[in-house]
Amino acid sequence: MRYDSYGSNVGVNRKEHVMPHVICEPCIGVKDASCVEVCPVECIHEADDQFYIHPEECIDCGACVPACPVSAIFPEEDVPKEWQSFIARNVELSGL
Ligand code: SF4
Ligand code: SF4
Repeated sequence: MRYDSYGSNVGVNRKEHVMPHVICEPCIGVKDASCVEVCPVECIHEADDQFYIHPEECIDCGACVPACPVSAIFPEEDVPKEWQSFIARNVELSGL
């Protein structure tokens, strides 16, 4: 019983796509890829109008945050209110 409960919790977390870092609106139109150069796990990918972070690949190291010249990257819990939709956008662009 306890085992089943533990396994279920893990499954729920994965389905909610826990996302350590998120790329928001300021990246659009800039896309200079500075963040890509510093990411140790190559989890930042290019879409048509912005770069995005794959939530299941990001290890939450924070190296990309100071590398961005327009401050477009935030830990999920610090994403500004006006850019909350970019949390789901990063997930969608990742194909999840
Ligand atoms: S937090 Fe680290 S692992 Fe995640 S996208 Fe930024 S540089 Fe890559
Ligand atoms: S460094 Fe910032 S502006 Fe440049 S691609 Fe990454 S998120 Fe976009």
